[in-house]
Amino acid sequence: MTTHSPASAALFARALTVTPGGVNSPVRAFRSVGGTPRFMASGRGAWITDVDGKHYVDLVGSWGPMILGHSHPDVIAAVTDAVSRGLSFGTPGEGEVLLAEEIVRRVAPVEQVRLVSSGTEATMSAVRLARGFTKRTKVVKFAGCYHGHVDALLASAGSGVATLALPDSAGVPATTTADVIVVPYNDIAAVELAFSKYGDEIACVITEAAAANMGVVPPLPGFNKMLAEIAHRNGALLISDEVMTGFRLSRAGMYGLEAAGLDPVAQGWAPDLLTFGKVIGGGLPVGAFGGRADVMALLAPEGPVYQAGTLSGNPVATAAGLANLRGLNDTVYAHLNETANTVGRLVSDALYAAGVPNRLQRAGNLFSIFFTAEQVFNYDDAREQESFRYAAFFHSMLDAGIYLPPSAFEAWFVSAAHDDLALQQIADALPAAAAAAA
Ligand code: PLP
Repeated sequence: MTTHSPASAALFARALTVTPGGVNSPVRAFRSVGGTPRFMASGRGAWITDVDGKHYVDLVGSWGPMILGHSHPDVIAAVTDAVSRGLSFGTPGEGEVLLAEEIVRRVAPVEQVRLVSSGTEATMSAVRLARGFTKRTKVVKFAGCYHGHVDALLASAGSGVATLALPDSAGVPATTTADVIVVPYNDIAAVELAFSKYGDEIACVITEAAAANMGVVPPLPGFNKMLAEIAHRNGALLISDEVMTGFRLSRAGMYGLEAAGLDPVAQGWAPDLLTFGKVIGGGLPVGAFGGRADVMALLAPEGPVYQAGTLSGNPVATAAGLANLRGLNDTVYAHLNETANTVGRLVSDALYAAGVPNRLQRAGNLFSIFFTAEQVFNYDDAREQESFRYAAFFHSMLDAGIYLPPSAFEAWFVSAAHDDLALQQIADALPAAAAAAA
C-alpha cells in the first residue's frame, strides 16, 4: 500500500487528536482496507480532488446524493439563490412545499410526507409512527439491512456496522433491542415464523427496498410484495426504506421499478410508509418519510405521535434537493443503468481474468462486487465472501485515481456525469487492481 498524500496524512493526524477515529462517520475511515483516508477538497462531474491535488473518478458519490455528479450547475445555482435569501427561518417556506409535492407526485404510495434532516431521522420517525398507529411495539428487521444509527435498528445492521464486524452497537440497552426481531433477508418463511410467534405484538416490518448496505442484495421476485401481504394480514405496517434507492433506481425508486412491472410478481402492492434521504438533499442534509394519509395523520400537530426538527425543511437543503430531483429524467436513468452495467461488467471481467472468483450483483444502477462465486441472498452469504481481497484491490484502484467505497460491504454509485473518459480511466486501472486481489 502506498501513500503519496502528505496533506491528507497531515490532516488525518490532526483529526485523530480531536475526533474519534479521525472521521465523522465510520465508513469514511479506511478501517477495513487500511491506510490514510483521503481528505477531499472539491468535486466536479464524475471527479473529486483531494487536498494533495490528486484527482479521482468518484464511485462513492457521497454515498448516494451526488447522482447528477459533483457541482452540478443547476444544483449550485439553486443553492446559491437560496443562500442569498437567508439560511433558516424556523417557519414554513415555499421550498419545502415544492419538495414535498415533487416526492408525492413521483411515488404513488406517498400521500403525505414529512421532511427531516437525515435518513436516520426518517426511519426512526417512521418506526415511531408505525408503533403509534398500531399501538404495538415489536419491529421485524432484516440482518444486514442498515436503517441509520437508530438504537433499535442497529441490531445486526449493515454498512459501517458490517464493515467493522460489530454484532450490534454498545450503548444500546437490551430493553430497546428486545422488541426487535431480526430475520434473514429474502427469507419469507422466517418472516412468517416471526408473525406466527408474535403476530399481534408486531407494529411493523422495516426493510431496505433493495438491500444495499451489505453489498447489493436485490430482493427475490415478489419478496417486498409478500412482506406487505404478511404485515397487512397481521395488522402490521410495512416500512420500505428507500433512503439509498429512492429516486436513484427510477423516478419512484425501487418501488417504481417494481410497480412498473419489471418484477411482475410484485405488481399491485404498496408499502404503508417509505423513507427517503440522500438524493432528495442533493448533497445537503435532508431526509423524509411519508405514505398513507391515515397513518401520517397521527403525526403532531394533527395527532399524538411527536416528531420535530429545528432545521427540518431547511430552505437551502430543500432547494438543493429539488434541483437534484428535477435533473433526473428518463435519459439520466438510462445513462445510470448503462454506466452501472458497464462498470460492473468491467470489474467482474477483470477479476475473472486474474483468476479471482467474484459475483456482480445489481439492483437497478446500484451494484457491488462480492468476492465469491456464489449468489448472495442474505447477510450470512455476504459475510462468507473473501473480503480480505478487497484491500489490495481498493488501494491499487485508489493509486490509479479511482475512488471506491473503502469497504467490501458497500454499494458502488455511478452518476449522470460518468462519461467515456471516466470509464476509460476505470478500465485502465482494473488489470493491475485485479492482479493485486488475486
Ligand atoms: N437507510 C438506508 C437504507 C441507508 O442506506 C442509510 C444511510 O446510508 C440510512 C438509512 C441512514 O441515512 P443517514 O446516514 O442520512 O442518517
